Amino acid sequence: MRTRICLLTFIFLSLAIAARAQQTLDARLDRDMASLVETYKMLHAAPELSHREEKTAAFFAGQLRSLGYTVTERFGKYEAPGLTSYGVVAVLKNGAGPTVLVRTELDALPVEERTGVPYASKVKTKNDAGQEVGVMHACGHDIHITNMLGTAKMLVEMKNQWSGTLVIIGQPAEEVTDGAKSMLRDGLYEKFPKPDFAIALHDSSELEVGKVGYTPGFALASSTSVDVKIRGVGGHGAKPESTKDPVVIAAEIVLALQTISSREISPLDPVVVTVGSIHGGSKHNIIPDEVNLQITVRAYKEEVRQKILAAIERIAKGIALAGGVPEDLAPIVKLNGSGTGATYNDPKLTERLAGAFVKALGSENVILVPPAMVSEDFGAFSLEQTIPATQFWLGAVDPAKVKQSRETGTPLPSLHSPIFIPAPEPTLRTGIKAMTAAVLDLMKKP
Ligand SMILES: [Zn+2]
Ligand SMILES: [Zn+2]
Repeated sequence: MRTRICLLTFIFLSLAIAARAQQTLDARLDRDMASLVETYKMLHAAPELSHREEKTAAFFAGQLRSLGYTVTERFGKYEAPGLTSYGVVAVLKNGAGPTVLVRTELDALPVEERTGVPYASKVKTKNDAGQEVGVMHACGHDIHITNMLGTAKMLVEMKNQWSGTLVIIGQPAEEVTDGAKSMLRDGLYEKFPKPDFAIALHDSSELEVGKVGYTPGFALASSTSVDVKIRGVGGHGAKPESTKDPVVIAAEIVLALQTISSREISPLDPVVVTVGSIHGGSKHNIIPDEVNLQITVRAYKEEVRQKILAAIERIAKGIALAGGVPEDLAPIVKLNGSGTGATYNDPKLTERLAGAFVKALGSENVILVPPAMVSEDFGAFSLEQTIPATQFWLGAVDPAKVKQSRETGTPLPSLHSPIFIPAPEPTLRTGIKAMTAAVLDLMKKP
């Protein structure tokens, strides 16, 4: 009797295991979706600024560990002293085959949320300058973290369908673009398996949910911050002849910088030179001693970036000289940080994954997206394009909102806006399907 019960239990369990193995990805997602959305909302309500992702990283690491990954925490080294890198590296070895790196960011932004959703962030903190600021996942990195956890689970359950080594990265400090570098500096590719491919996704504030976008080649620009200190000789506002006015010189420089893109760089090379901040002076009737500019430079090609930086220095110094500023008070032009390189999506890998997305989501849901001049530090993981890497866009917007925006001509809230909020369930469903399909395509058993 006991043998019969054992036998029946065995048959029942075997059938259950076989049925589970045949569950489609959709069925698995149906099973997990409520808990994934809950995870997303919990992360959304508890954002942490760049360099301070301690709790987010610990949660991410704990989840991956419980799924069976070998997890290393606090991985990464910043150049600045006193900062802890909360990088997470999770490895799952599953036989011979390629090594694939998939990355999510962990950090949020100093933005006060105004979405009005019940799970909106109420977090406030002091920024590095000591001011109180709201904190919000306004770039959707909470979607990326949840998406990665969902994908990580699917790939564990579907281990019999792939072979190779999966490396999942929880990258800190993307918004300040030193997180990827911190992990590489700490020996990411020496201490852990070096990837044959690196992939990531980013939610899109323009694409409808259900869709993914891909951009072969240059997709996102390099970003370089430049500080220009324009020095003059201050004095009374009513006696300009006894001064060298840095306000007027700054005004000329700001306008002249716009000729870099129009006159100095090939029209076929997209560039941006934006003066985002200009500060000088204290009162109506005083000509100040200095004016400070903060500039962001965007470009795709490194040689173009170098040309722009040289032009900024030449124009600033030339205009100051023309304004009569003595040579020892010439403008001081300095890079603020090392900036971040362009994101180049390896065309072969990108087209290959687009094919996998078509199979998983249908061709109507896979969109060719033009490149943009915003920046990202994901490109650093490609080691100057020696490792094929690609980042794809994940639609996050309610289709009704996209339609309304098209009809009324009102732009949708962009990433980093205090009112940007993804539609969680369909965004996660598509993201996990796409990311799982991408990894399976790269690592599928021969
Ligand atoms: Zn962002
Ligand atoms: Zn982002």
